[in-house]
Amino acid sequence: MKILVINAGSSSLKYELFNKKLDSLGDGYIERIGQKGQIPNHEKAVKQALESIQKKGLVTSLVEIKAVGHRVVHGGEKYSAPVRITPSVQKEIQKLCKLAPLHNPPNLAGIKACKKLLPKATQVAIFDTAFHQTLPKKAFIYALPYDLYKKEGIRRYGFHGTSHLYLSKVAKKLLGRKADRLVTCHLGNGSSLAAVKNGKSIDTTMGFTPLEGVPMGTRSGDIDPAIAVKLSQKLGPEKADNLLNKQSGLLGLTGKSSDMRDLLVTRKSNKKSQLAIDIFCYKVAQKIAAFTASLQGLDAIAFTGGIGENSGYIRAQICQYLPHLGVKVDATKNRKNTTIFSVKGSKVSLLNIPADEEKEIASQTLKLL
Ligand code: ADP
Repeated sequence: MKILVINAGSSSLKYELFNKKLDSLGDGYIERIGQKGQIPNHEKAVKQALESIQKKGLVTSLVEIKAVGHRVVHGGEKYSAPVRITPSVQKEIQKLCKLAPLHNPPNLAGIKACKKLLPKATQVAIFDTAFHQTLPKKAFIYALPYDLYKKEGIRRYGFHGTSHLYLSKVAKKLLGRKADRLVTCHLGNGSSLAAVKNGKSIDTTMGFTPLEGVPMGTRSGDIDPAIAVKLSQKLGPEKADNLLNKQSGLLGLTGKSSDMRDLLVTRKSNKKSQLAIDIFCYKVAQKIAAFTASLQGLDAIAFTGGIGENSGYIRAQICQYLPHLGVKVDATKNRKNTTIFSVKGSKVSLLNIPADEEKEIASQTLKLL
């Protein structure tokens, strides 16, 4: 029995195959699945993925794939756990395209393609928003006219849920009760943090869309909302949206790169690179501190994502703002990317945990079977 994990985006498709012990058997990444200007062809991409799985000898027959776990970005308020994709669930995912017009349509196209090409397999949806459905109202309602929530669904949803859930599970395995009041930091091209109390998300930095929160590769993160209004008046809504989502963050600040590695290379000679790094670390540290109020204390901080896992410099820069909370970095362990990199016996444990969203999706899919 094999489980296939599919992450279908607007221009690419990632896949990974697992056995029932959740060992990864192989993965792949299909880029540019829609030629410029054309509608992306997810069916062709899934076909290509399945051919490659067979060619590599990962399965002798496709019927060995008993289930497919699909990453679906938006589950709205309806889904707080993985679900088997029935026709009515598929309709709901379609309805939720209204809330995630960039993400849910390609996710749905991936589902339709797999249903057609693997008709015997159970299709499961794992939602990026699900883990944050435990947020209390005071954390997810914006101070806007209340009807906007009731009528339009305008509220904070949070994203990267699978990654935050995975971090919290690993933290619990490593630390037991000493991870009860945990801040999880997914720092990659997209970045978000979550306050996790006794394994449940009680607050997170992303909101109605992934634009809210800390600055990211190309997203602004939190700004005065009046700036968005002003930009919209000046440029029109589409260009304003593009500016905030695709031209801001590290890219906007440096004018050159959204890639943290580039900034770390140029920071000594380029003041803008250093400023972008400083803003990023300062804002992340502020969110961690804010979440200590949500958690009424702090036992551990867990880092993941391309930046969170790999850059000791960034982790140290973030932690330097937090000694008053009991955060103490062991510099050698941090440099070596050791799993637990806090000073032994310090009040707050610091963890570096490689992200594995695919494995978590496979694990949840298996559980549902
Ligand atoms: P995504 O959010 O798209 O999944 P990743 O989690 O792969 O992205 O993170 C991408 C980010 O991680 C990029 O900004 C990249 O520069 C950064 N990154 C990757 N490796 C390193 C490294 N060794 N040091 C610092 N940043 C890194």
